[in-house]
Amino acid sequence: MTYLVNFPTSLKKNKLPGFFLALEGIDGSGKTTQSQILCDHLNASGKVASVLHFPRKESGLLAELNASILSGKKKIPQEAFQYLFSADYTMLVNEEIVPRLEKGEIVITDRFHCYSSVAYGLFDTKKEIDRIYAQSLMVANGLLSTHFQFFVPDMTFYLDVSISTALERMSKKENKDIYEKKDVLEAVARGYAFLRDEFPDEFQYIDAERSIDEVTKNMVQILSNSSIKL
Ligand code: ADP
Repeated sequence: MTYLVNFPTSLKKNKLPGFFLALEGIDGSGKTTQSQILCDHLNASGKVASVLHFPRKESGLLAELNASILSGKKKIPQEAFQYLFSADYTMLVNEEIVPRLEKGEIVITDRFHCYSSVAYGLFDTKKEIDRIYAQSLMVANGLLSTHFQFFVPDMTFYLDVSISTALERMSKKENKDIYEKKDVLEAVARGYAFLRDEFPDEFQYIDAERSIDEVTKNMVQILSNSSIKL
């Protein structure tokens, strides 16, 4: 017997005074670099902005565990991994994101957990995206859940790079995560394409093949036309 579980839902929006900005993209797309440059730029223009990185490997209750799983030292089932990240993200929201947004600050997150969890959680279905599986992941990880729904960023920049560019940029990196391999990145990129298709209004597409400076300029220009009004 097959049961169809179906319910209408909408994405939960940020109702706090601060601005919630996320950078998304595959590993090597430039999120860490650009989130810090943007943050410095915003602070220099008189705003109060800060960057938070996710998944957390250096702060929070689960940092050590997250780091050992991401480095491949500890192995747990993929599903358990996603729930662990959801638990950590819940703490990050409560401890760091909400208090800053309540004060009217700008929060930049290097990854928005709910999007990353779909793109990365899908990497075992390599050939094609299984829409029902992706939706169940979104319910499980809090994006579509009516029980504990995370609010989505006010704006999400999707930094788009080819797999070869990402791999080349990461080639200098010493400690690689389990995800930083060609076949995994290809699957993750398909996961992001699925997300951009599913939620077209949520993503600002950025051509991140360009120089660091050009990518920053592109994002600053988009932000100038947003409620941040640079
Ligand atoms: P991510 O956080 O998305 O994994 P990083 O910001 O860590 O990506 O960038 C990976 C590497 O690529 C870093 O060495 C960084 O200096 C470099 N890099 C980032 N953006 C660019 C760019 N636009 N052009 C060239 N190199 C870049």
